[in-house]
Amino acid sequence: MNLKKKITAAVVAATLSVSLTIGAPVASAGTAETIIGVGSVLIGASQQNAQLNKMIRHYDESEQGRQELFDAFKQKYGVSQNTAYKERLDKIMANLTKGVAAVDPTIKEKPYIYFVSAQTSVNAACSMGHVMMVNEGTFNQITSEDEIAAIVGHEMGHGQKSHVAKGNKKVLQKQVIASLAGTAVGSAIGGGQLTSIIAGLAFNHSVAHGTRKYETEADMLGFDYITHTNYNPGACAAVMQKFVELEGNSKRSGLEKIFLPSDHPDSAKRRDAYVQKLFEYSGKHVTAKDGIITVNNKTLITVAASDTMSSAERSYFVLGNLAAAYHNGQNKKEATVQNGTVMLGNQPIISPLDGDEDAYTIAERLNSIK
Ligand SMILES: [Zn+2]
Repeated sequence: MNLKKKITAAVVAATLSVSLTIGAPVASAGTAETIIGVGSVLIGASQQNAQLNKMIRHYDESEQGRQELFDAFKQKYGVSQNTAYKERLDKIMANLTKGVAAVDPTIKEKPYIYFVSAQTSVNAACSMGHVMMVNEGTFNQITSEDEIAAIVGHEMGHGQKSHVAKGNKKVLQKQVIASLAGTAVGSAIGGGQLTSIIAGLAFNHSVAHGTRKYETEADMLGFDYITHTNYNPGACAAVMQKFVELEGNSKRSGLEKIFLPSDHPDSAKRRDAYVQKLFEYSGKHVTAKDGIITVNNKTLITVAASDTMSSAERSYFVLGNLAAAYHNGQNKKEATVQNGTVMLGNQPIISPLDGDEDAYTIAERLNSIK
């Protein structure tokens, strides 16, 4: 046999084993079972495509496949030992799962499997099969549960629309071939290796996060989900404001590409898109810019900074409360002060801090312009 014939024979054997094993239990690393042989250039493009489709279906749709990914993620990124963070994520996932179900009942057929990773950067990822992780660093840097829910809601938008499975075939193909470069002719990549390649791509924006179109879709879905929970809908804009400030302060050092990849619309634009959503959600009554809240085109207040938030970031929480009040018809009732908090009907709006005007002044002004 000449060399070319030898290679072809190896590829054919590999391909046959693929068609028998894919969809069935995937081999662990080191076995001879093959998903994509090194000779993939020799097999037809359509055949390679069919193999990738099978592989993607395995991870995205089968219970076994998604468990394999889940295990690979935990192994690669480590599992946080912080039980308080784990409990917080459990609570966020329970709340958001209900919020998603109100918009998209298919979540009931494929609930998310998730964990807090041991990574210290501000980051989160959702892969195929509704496998999700949120980094410990996210909880370290972001203390507001509402803002973490906004991040997780974005990830669930990717998950519900299967962005990873739909959008990344070419990326996966390239990575698999690249990972085989330099290996002996005829060697093959096993299922376990492949799982770890996919896990390794989790924080690559082109896999975990897709095109600009997908990012915008995930942002908008995240907003819809959160408006079906008790979280403050202003948290989506607020967390983007936090990213704007973190980027400005640290030049991205604390943030990984997942929220700021080059093909993401930048954080300021994403924040502004959320402010527009809030304006619409309120029936076009309320908005905010640079920490100043406007009701019916009249200035209500300039929101003071708190210990953990800038004036702008905190203003989006006030905006979220006002938008919810208008959305739910509470604006037809009086603004009052209860236990130091300005209320509009039964909706809390703001609990003034040092630097804010006093609650009675704010309530009075709100009544005059609402
Ligand atoms: Zn994304």
